[in-house]
Amino acid sequence: MIILQSVLKELLEALTGLKTQMYFKSSLTALSHAMEDQILAESMLNSAPPLVIASFQRERFYRQEAHRYKRLAQKTDQVYVLAAPETSFSNYSDVYEQVAFAPQDGLAQEWHLVIITDQYSSCLVCRERQTSSKELDAANIDNSRRFEGIWSLDRQVAQTAASILLKRILKYRPQLAEKIKRAEQRYIDPVETGISPVKAQIDPFVRRLVTYLQASQYKLLKSNRSLALKETKERLLNSIIGAIRRSLDSEEILQVAVKNLGEGLGVCRCIVYRCKENDTSTQIYHEFTNPGAKSVKGKTWPLRNNPLFQEVIELRDSLSIEDTSKDPRIQTSNVPGVEQNSLQNIVKSCSIFSWLLIPLVYQDRLLGMMELHHCGPEPTSWKPEDISLVDAIANQISVALIQAEAYANLEDLNQQLEALDRTRSNLVAITGHELRTPLSTIQICLESLASEPDMSLELRQIMLNTALQDAERMRKLVQDFLTLSQLESGRVECNPEPLSLAECVDLSLSHLRSRINMGGLPQITNLVTSDLPLVQVDGEWLVEVLAKLLDNACKFTGSDGQVTIRVSRYNPQSLEVIVSDTGRGIEPNRLNQVFDRFYQEEGALRRSVGGTGLGLAICRQIVANWGGQIWAKSQGKNQGSEFHFTLPIFEANPSDSSNAFNPPAKKTRNNSKKKQKTSNS
Ligand code: ADP
Repeated sequence: MIILQSVLKELLEALTGLKTQMYFKSSLTALSHAMEDQILAESMLNSAPPLVIASFQRERFYRQEAHRYKRLAQKTDQVYVLAAPETSFSNYSDVYEQVAFAPQDGLAQEWHLVIITDQYSSCLVCRERQTSSKELDAANIDNSRRFEGIWSLDRQVAQTAASILLKRILKYRPQLAEKIKRAEQRYIDPVETGISPVKAQIDPFVRRLVTYLQASQYKLLKSNRSLALKETKERLLNSIIGAIRRSLDSEEILQVAVKNLGEGLGVCRCIVYRCKENDTSTQIYHEFTNPGAKSVKGKTWPLRNNPLFQEVIELRDSLSIEDTSKDPRIQTSNVPGVEQNSLQNIVKSCSIFSWLLIPLVYQDRLLGMMELHHCGPEPTSWKPEDISLVDAIANQISVALIQAEAYANLEDLNQQLEALDRTRSNLVAITGHELRTPLSTIQICLESLASEPDMSLELRQIMLNTALQDAERMRKLVQDFLTLSQLESGRVECNPEPLSLAECVDLSLSHLRSRINMGGLPQITNLVTSDLPLVQVDGEWLVEVLAKLLDNACKFTGSDGQVTIRVSRYNPQSLEVIVSDTGRGIEPNRLNQVFDRFYQEEGALRRSVGGTGLGLAICRQIVANWGGQIWAKSQGKNQGSEFHFTLPIFEANPSDSSNAFNPPAKKTRNNSKKKQKTSNS
């Protein structure tokens, strides 16, 4: 049988004017013991047997007190003990009556002890207050359980409570009807005995003692709660630190941090973004939202026109706003023309009621920003302990980001080292072939010249020419190698000046023709006219690029083929130079690779035409130095190739009126300055 109704409620309904009070579990234990001890202390001789009814919420609470009830039962046969069974407790008659009720019964929520003697009576009727799971988690201590109810020495209150409880006992154990009836007659509606019970009042001293007990319990509970809260926060901090330290990927660090923090603090929205101090705006990629909060992922967040962001980076400290509707920085933040991104607009569209901004800073360098939002329905104040927790987390995120950055740099350096290592091996191979072969030829030629004095003049001349050609080949390789290493280390002088492209092309072609036997050259068509706008680059380097591209085009095109050089407008600020040929072409999947150092399609050791494999790498470096681009196009093998690169157009300063009408005197190669490099042209 399950009776849901509360005994306390029944008592309060039966006796109007009773006032309930809050009791901690420890206070109820002390009061119950005191009430039981009062009976146990009385001598058998001068006291009549009392009525004792005790209702325990669970069997385990009864077990702790069972020995006392055995002793109480020696004083009276009217002892009733009620409890919800957990092991062996059941309806049973022994030295006292055991009454078992179901765990779902209303009694399982209550704590009762009623004692009535002829001289006095006392009663405790309380109901446990439902504690939220959050409170329980925070305290997680049995003594923090609270009860609400009556503790009274009033005879009428005790009798009414006893009557309600006896009626319940009768329902659970109808076979006790006789015994219960005797109890009712004896203690609740007694026939006039002539003994008038003492009109008892709770002693003010006792009352004070109980109040004191309650107050200390309350303090204990409060400090336990704050300790538990501290522990929870520490756990949160540690879990976030643990999670972000496990990763060396900044994107993952930000995502983990935002999720853990948002969940841990229970805010509506938590976002984090990377930014620099003078960024105009940023986009939100890392966000955590609790159900009900609108997502801002992908949204553009203003930074430069955002007084909150500016204040945070100036102070290098967190900024908390309890109520955005009252914050003057937000209310006056409308910048004409940027209505869309004004703070007011963001606050409204993202329902930000309370705002917390925390900078991610490492050694005074701003790495990003973390924001927490409360989205209503009411503004929420930011607790100092929450702010310091978020600050601590922000510090850890900053350290983790720096570590991730260092790791990425390390990876980059490793890749560079690997590339360097590859270059070194290539260099060994190339020197093995490109240097040793001409060197051997030179050696043989010179040895022959020295050891064969009778050699014909004609053969002598051939020997000398061969030695000279091979010496030139070696010089070229060393030259290219030095040029590239200087370009890559940034140790070259570069003097951009307004130049005529047509003049530079002419110069490169004349170098080419002077070096290569005219008979072996393909037909070269120059479509670069002199009416083009001037370009603003270093003349020597431009000629170097043109010469190398033309040299390659001729090298890889048979003498019956065609080489063309032409120009088009790439964009308003730059020209595009195209060197095309009808030669052997390039496989489409090699179009990028040809710019790698030492790349040669057939490998350095099988070359039929001379070359170092450094020419295009040098061109790429030179073009990158003036901010241009270089790329290759080809339909494939034997389909010819096209090499394109861009050149910045010289722009006369518009404020300079003399320049606006008179283009600046163009500089020719002859008046450009001497460079560090040694030109091979
Ligand atoms: P190399 O000294 O070998 O010419 P480059 O760096 O100038 O070195 O060129 C690298 C490689 O790119 C060449 O060996 C060749 O395989 C390919 N290449 C360059 N220009 C052309 C072209 N016009 N036609 C076909 N292949 C080319």
